[in-house]
Amino acid sequence: MAKYILGIDEGTTGARAFVIDDQCTVLGLAASELTQHYPRPGWIEHDPMEILSVQLEVIRAALRQAKLQPSDLTAVALTNQRETGIVWEKDTGRPIYNAVVWASRQTVDVVERWVDKGHGDMIEQRTGLIPDAYYTASKIRFILDAVPGAQERAERGELLAGTVDTWLIWNLTGRKSFVTEYSNASRTMMFNLETREWDDDLLAVYDIPRRMLAEIVPSDTIVGDIGATFGADVPIASNLGDQQAGLFGQAAFAPGQSKMTYGTAGVLNINCGEQPQRIAGLTPSMAWGVQGKVAYEIEGVLFAMGKTMQWLRDDLKLIHAAPDSEWYAGQVPSTDGVYLIPAFTGLSAPDWDPYARAAIIGMSNATTRLHIIRAAVESMVFQTRDVVEAALTGSDNIRIPELRVDGGAVKNNFLCQLQADVLGVAVVR
Ligand code: ADP
Repeated sequence: MAKYILGIDEGTTGARAFVIDDQCTVLGLAASELTQHYPRPGWIEHDPMEILSVQLEVIRAALRQAKLQPSDLTAVALTNQRETGIVWEKDTGRPIYNAVVWASRQTVDVVERWVDKGHGDMIEQRTGLIPDAYYTASKIRFILDAVPGAQERAERGELLAGTVDTWLIWNLTGRKSFVTEYSNASRTMMFNLETREWDDDLLAVYDIPRRMLAEIVPSDTIVGDIGATFGADVPIASNLGDQQAGLFGQAAFAPGQSKMTYGTAGVLNINCGEQPQRIAGLTPSMAWGVQGKVAYEIEGVLFAMGKTMQWLRDDLKLIHAAPDSEWYAGQVPSTDGVYLIPAFTGLSAPDWDPYARAAIIGMSNATTRLHIIRAAVESMVFQTRDVVEAALTGSDNIRIPELRVDGGAVKNNFLCQLQADVLGVAVVR
């Protein structure tokens, strides 16, 4: 009898679901966009109930397309946007505030307060993460401060907090399983990389009650089933944050193997084996825990990759669609000395400056929009070189003999070829 797996991919721009058979043939695939809320400049929020309803809708659509019933499924696998934080009521399942999205900068001052009080070193020591508004802890703190009475309710055990995987699993299992796993937990700035548990000292600094937080399990744990939502007790059998899922999907199972994603943001992930590795400017995290073993990874996140193309399209209106950038960039032999630094929301790896802002430099009277478009595409290449070089110079055992790439922007041949030329290695798409 054929076996079928349902894959769930809850992303930032939207939700996807697909059904594959045991030959990895995709039998059904559905996607739908998610409303982005921008309550103030630099803030990004999602409605957690919409995350759930859109996700359920695309699961049903993918099953319909595959002409399968939930009872035909063998297992469910989950991946999701990481770091985004949600707080909800244990009794009613109602979120008390929107999901504060990973890319949102609304908690820069929350993190600054922790660092000003002298906790920066401890945070970095315990979690591997350079304190930043990017991570979940500050988002939960923000929600507990923004909603009157929330702190007290959290202390009384009336509220639950988690990343998107925890939210989805709790709902899909009919509120039975309150869990997360290593790769997601390690991006919260509350997770201790050595003990692989929530760090009580850090929770005390953040004033986040531990009882709000889910149990952390290995990534291949069967955490429950979807009987309550789909009427068939199909197990949810794997869970990974999106970037680690990408690393796994590129078959980077051995230490030293890596992948680079060019999505809205860019992320370099390198498998580091069974021990965390520290490299200046990059962040160690958990890759996964599978088959009784753990793997760590080192990560270089770039906040603006494909996002820069969206800015050229939506705000500057220099291009009609992101893929047009390839043709325009090829119309001039060089940028003629123009550089675009896409620090729209600060600089991420390897520089970590939340106050840096974007710039276009080196323009002359002869600069045209072609040069600016080309400089924008080149910014993706040079940022990638920054994190690759940080990894190579900061470590004796990391080699990047080829760059395995994925993400929406890798359809751009100009981008991939220039990346290969600049790094001097093959780019494998
Ligand atoms: P995510 O999963 O992060 O939402 P995707 O991997 O789907 O993102 O990639 C979408 C991003 O890629 C968008 O920011 C878009 O601007 C960019 N993009 C898509 N196609 C191209 C292209 N041909 N050239 C450059 N950028 C592109």
